[in-house]
Amino acid sequence: MTDTVLAVLNQPSRDAAPHDPDADAYTWVEPLEEHLQVQDLGATRGDGVFETITVVDGHPQALEPHLARFGRSAAKLDLPAPDTDVWRQAVEAACARLDPVREAFVKTVMTRGVEGTDRPTGWVYAAPSPDSTRARTEGISVVLLDRGYRHDVERTSPWLLQGAKTLSYGINMAALREAVRRGADDALFVSTDGYVLEGTRANLVMRVGDRLVTPRTDVGILDGTTQADVFRFAEEQGMETAYELVTLDDLRAADALWLVSSVRQAAPVRAVDGEDRPVDAELTTRINDFLLARSV
Ligand code: PLP
Repeated sequence: MTDTVLAVLNQPSRDAAPHDPDADAYTWVEPLEEHLQVQDLGATRGDGVFETITVVDGHPQALEPHLARFGRSAAKLDLPAPDTDVWRQAVEAACARLDPVREAFVKTVMTRGVEGTDRPTGWVYAAPSPDSTRARTEGISVVLLDRGYRHDVERTSPWLLQGAKTLSYGINMAALREAVRRGADDALFVSTDGYVLEGTRANLVMRVGDRLVTPRTDVGILDGTTQADVFRFAEEQGMETAYELVTLDDLRAADALWLVSSVRQAAPVRAVDGEDRPVDAELTTRINDFLLARSV
């Protein structure tokens, strides 16, 4: 048992040769030592895909939806298909190897590999999660930032890779810094044609009366595993759920807002562009209790 865990995969995809034909499916290595070659396209071009999976009491949550999205992201980048069985095995082994802790996370990363080798690089890293209590209970403030794309770019310009969880998160992190410069905790992206999209690392969920609404997943955003489970919770409670094109007017009119994601789970939005928003503390607690208790 240890407080951080790193497994390097020998053959991240069955469509590409293993790194060592005689080695095990994955090898445990020292997390703080260097393992990545400087010519790895994940490092030099952000050319790869990843997932971050919440682990509660040693159990990875929404593992199958995360693995499925990992495969869809890889396909969007024309990467070889991840070998789901080996990735699942490595994730579960990493969870078991980690020191017991209430909340942790596992990150799966697959890059195009070292330039010229045609062999993807893959690793699974696990560590305890940062404490999200404050965001979950006190809420977060967000600013609206123009993403610079229309809402239909996923269809018109698939090379922009919107909707894929790629390693190219430089833009998301720049948007986060801009939000902090403007005195907020996070940013919410808006399309150039006025539709609300997603956060820098989270999906938007709104309560409109007794319905939960989230932006349609074909607007160049990630199809969130947490958002899907929030909808599962709502449906179990008899609430209606809907995927819609969300305008700025819809956002303004909503009764409550959340940014939802793995690790932080549901963070109620208490202000948008400096204007206070109502927080539904009771529903927030129920959503987070449900998310933290997930057994699948
Ligand atoms: N949207 C973006 C841009 C993200 O980076 C993330 C998560 O990292 C999400 C949405 C939420 O996805 P999930 O709930 O599957 O973590």
